[in-house]
Amino acid sequence: MAKKIDSKIPAGPVPEKWKEYKAHQRLVNPKNKLKLDVIVVGTGLAGASAAASLAEMGFNVYNFCIQDSPRRAHSIAAQGGINAAKCYQNDGDSIYRLFYDTVKGGDYRAREANVYRLAEVSNNIIDQCVAQGVPFAREYGGMLANRSFGGAQVSRTFYAKGQTGQQLLLGAYSSLSCQVKAGKVKLYTRYEMEDVVIVDGRARGIIAKNLVTGKLERFSANAVVIATGGYGNTYFLSTNAMGCNCTAAVQCYRKGAYFANPSYVQIHPTCIPVHGDKQSKLTLMSESLRNDGRIWVPKKIEDAKALQAGTKQGWEIPEEDRDYYLERRYPAFGNLVPRDVASRAAKERCDKGFGVNNTGLAVFLDFSESINRLGLDVIMQRYGNLFEMYEEITDVFPGDVANEINGVKYYKPMMIYPAIHYTMGGIWVDYELQTSIPGLFAIGECNFSDHGANRLGASALMQGLADGYFVLPYTIQNYLADQAVWPKVSTDLPEFDAAEKAVDAEMDRLLNIKGKRSVDSIHKELGHIMWEYVGMGRTAEGLKTGLKKMHELEKEFDENLFVPGTKEGLNIELDKAIHLRDFFTMGQLVAFDALSRNESCGGHFREEYQTEEGEAKRDDENYFYVGCWDYKGKGNEPELIKEPLEYEAIKVQTRNYKN
Ligand SMILES: Cc1cc2nc3c(=O)[nH]c(=O)nc-3n(C[C@H](O)[C@H](O)[C@H](O)COP(=O)(O)OP(=O)(O)OC[C@H]3O[C@@H](n4cnc5c(N)ncnc54)[C@H](O)[C@@H]3O)c2cc1C
Repeated sequence: MAKKIDSKIPAGPVPEKWKEYKAHQRLVNPKNKLKLDVIVVGTGLAGASAAASLAEMGFNVYNFCIQDSPRRAHSIAAQGGINAAKCYQNDGDSIYRLFYDTVKGGDYRAREANVYRLAEVSNNIIDQCVAQGVPFAREYGGMLANRSFGGAQVSRTFYAKGQTGQQLLLGAYSSLSCQVKAGKVKLYTRYEMEDVVIVDGRARGIIAKNLVTGKLERFSANAVVIATGGYGNTYFLSTNAMGCNCTAAVQCYRKGAYFANPSYVQIHPTCIPVHGDKQSKLTLMSESLRNDGRIWVPKKIEDAKALQAGTKQGWEIPEEDRDYYLERRYPAFGNLVPRDVASRAAKERCDKGFGVNNTGLAVFLDFSESINRLGLDVIMQRYGNLFEMYEEITDVFPGDVANEINGVKYYKPMMIYPAIHYTMGGIWVDYELQTSIPGLFAIGECNFSDHGANRLGASALMQGLADGYFVLPYTIQNYLADQAVWPKVSTDLPEFDAAEKAVDAEMDRLLNIKGKRSVDSIHKELGHIMWEYVGMGRTAEGLKTGLKKMHELEKEFDENLFVPGTKEGLNIELDKAIHLRDFFTMGQLVAFDALSRNESCGGHFREEYQTEEGEAKRDDENYFYVGCWDYKGKGNEPELIKEPLEYEAIKVQTRNYKN
């Protein structure tokens, strides 16, 4: 019988909760300079915004990242934009509508109250970033411009060309830099958190490795915040930056932090297809392209076969022989259905043999109609850097005219296919963003909180910045309030000794295996297992096979890994080996969760549970909960703990994007 937990949301009807939250914000006095230390691990959008805000409120912050500068965090990869309910387009948007779309987009598996709070602060984020000088795109008249993302019928996505993440991070970085100069933030670049230190049941510090000298160092504080990103790289090939890893999160999980909904992994529909087995990275083509690009495959199987054989090109296929399958299946949202729906539809067409590249695993994203309507200049203003990126990788420029049929110009289409992109699951947090370990908080992509089973486009940046600028700086004070009477613990405590010794022993273990296989070769194999058995379409049998194969491969890792060099100085292979050790734990956790959830919802698609039309079939009677996993040791099955979901403002229903 699974244990049950609740999310510590104050009792009472929904509007009261949200009022209480606002009232609570007013109680906080930013001028109250507390002498308390907070460790923030991560300098992506979540970490940098939190570190800057906490310092602004008077806390002393120690901020860590693995890169040589906070500006190189994975967040700079974000292309398309950030959502907010400003309703500048006057198209009927509102906080409620953003809240509703996000809950529906997450297939009714998100915590309702959290999402409402997220929607409420969304507008503040835009104001904050504009004040920092973030150069959002503007209309001719000076108003901030908006475009649409999947799962919404309004335009609420703010953007800076195709580089929104980079511009937002520069904004957060400038705030952070002010606090560094003011002496309130101490930055530790090229430091990796290897463990969290628990003293008397509370998070009191971390063990971090100086990645340049190889030395382990101890840091203590009154609270620890992790903002270390998602676990998409468990699949080896993903759109994530190569350095993304889940070591900090998994180590917190091993120390007792629950891990929630790990099976909710997002597969993004518009990525450049895999083109060989030497690849180590996949490239995203932003969802924003679906505003003007139309997705299609041929109607006739003989055309698809000719495309696969290379004897025909996409632009030779006339309009009447094209199947714009998203527009056909989902007329109300067309090409802007949410990512999980678009990805499954692409897979369905390719599985039926209609794929358009030599592997049969691609569909077209075509700009012919929009270029003919708006002109290439306008399209380039919107997506220029994405077109150039596509050309650099594939040698095809999507703005080149390729053919003319009946007086209509046809441009070279992009080829795209779904790929691992984002992880909705993460460290479990309560309404205050505190994990199940007191004093340990998790924000941004590394927590599970707001997206349910599927994240809508442009809402990760919104969540990361909401957590960092507007939620954590207030909620953490409820914890820190009674910490003011506690002295900061010494790093000489036996708990720090034990944690450091354990990390050191692990490094020795990995270096001394002295086997024959490189980290990457094993990681690639793990990625194949994950994609094949724990990927877009899952079955109970496949998941069991995947788990068995993962156990076998983990044994191979433990017995036949080769890590060159020593633990002194820079050793990237050793760092990668530590990450891979944790990807194994994570991969198994994803499979356990997927196996325990006998339903399909959002990014978690169990083939046994689908409607006649191939849509995800939820089971609200039995699975309307957050699945939290409690670590029980290597090789043991973790324990499932359920947090029941409570919906008071939104009626839970079957998702419909057709009408
Ligand atoms: C190609 C791409 C495009 C995207 N486009 C969009 C978009 O348009 N809109 C949108 O909303 N979302 C988008 N996303 C998602 C979004 O970018 C991420 O979810 C978000 O940036 C995550 O931010 P974060 O701060 O939580 O983590 P990250 O940006 O991943 O930062 C993690 C930080 O933690 C540090 N770190 C990690 N492990 C350790 C450790 N052990 N010790 C010390 N430091 C550590 C890293 O150094 C880094 O500073 C996109 C994602 C990708 C891959």
